[in-house]
Amino acid sequence: MIYIHIPFCKQKCSYCNFHFSTSLHSKDKVLEALCKEIDLRKDELQNKTLKTLYFGGGTPSMLSVDELKKIMDHLLIYFDFSHDIEITLEANPDDLTSAYVKDLSQSSINRLSIGVQSFFDADLQLMNRAHNASQADAAIKRAQDSGLDNISIDLIYGSPTSNLELWKKNLNKVVELQVPHLSSYALTIEPKTALNQWVNSGKIVAPNEAHQNEEFFWMSQFLKEHGFEHYEISNFALPGFQSKHNSAYWRYEPYLGLGPSAHSYNGHNERSWNVSNNIIYAQNILNHQLPLEREMLTESDRYNEALMIGLRTKIGVCVEGFKNQFSEKILTYFQKVIAPKLDSGNLIIENGFLKIPEKHWFMADGIASDLFFVE
Ligand code: SF4
Repeated sequence: MIYIHIPFCKQKCSYCNFHFSTSLHSKDKVLEALCKEIDLRKDELQNKTLKTLYFGGGTPSMLSVDELKKIMDHLLIYFDFSHDIEITLEANPDDLTSAYVKDLSQSSINRLSIGVQSFFDADLQLMNRAHNASQADAAIKRAQDSGLDNISIDLIYGSPTSNLELWKKNLNKVVELQVPHLSSYALTIEPKTALNQWVNSGKIVAPNEAHQNEEFFWMSQFLKEHGFEHYEISNFALPGFQSKHNSAYWRYEPYLGLGPSAHSYNGHNERSWNVSNNIIYAQNILNHQLPLEREMLTESDRYNEALMIGLRTKIGVCVEGFKNQFSEKILTYFQKVIAPKLDSGNLIIENGFLKIPEKHWFMADGIASDLFFVE
């Protein structure tokens, strides 16, 4: 699988600390470098038949469909697309005009992940999103009308401008619009964001964790009643609409991440990531240098990550698989630390998979980190 990071956005959302630039000056150079990076790194993926391709960002829908096609055509020099490949484009509602959606529907892109975040203008204004609520609604309908019905939307809960009643209305819209996949995250205050400054200066109150907890459980219950599977803490899908790309991440399959700040994993013990600077990225790549750092994962890194990621999924982690992957020292430690959590019901083993019962998912990160092995 391949991830391509498109590092441009129209404006900075108040909660966001991803890598992007609001200046398009470097766009042509970055796109040229992306194709060059494909040339330089094609052999890092052994499997030359791609099952998933994901354009993330930033805001990939700021590229024209022709620019996206140019990148895909370059990939096709070295890779085949499998007959059922999932090609996702992260798109913002304000970019999904009739003309853009028409072009998309005639391309190989077959899945949209739309950054809706909320169907209420007060939330969108606090988040400094570039779209309004009616644009979000219209963009989804326009995509569906053009035949692009494999749609995921992102929604954020727990905003100080929202409450449980408004959150219920947001979720009703998911069902009403027949959106088959939802990724939903609690609003968090990240360092170096406008939200962080506003909380520190007292302009807004920090999100309330108890309210977020309540909204999370309501969402899970409501969506299950409407046929969705809650297959990862932050992800819900109608049958047949789980994200193939993200599911492959959670199974530790190797992936190649291209573009500024993109991360890659070789499927064994090495991660790498590109520099988070568009100009430095483009200059290096166009000079045939890879501007990336590499990290070798130790056994305890791999064990900790397997728990952190696997325990966020409905399927959990395979206990037999663990026995084949880790040394006696780690396995003895694992058995020791899971025992009290199995007794207390924070963990269960079902059909050979260790998992967190859904009612405890809200504290999954804490439960997983209690199991970490620290050298
Ligand atoms: S559009 Fe996405 S990547 Fe860009 S600033 Fe907003 S949240 Fe961040």
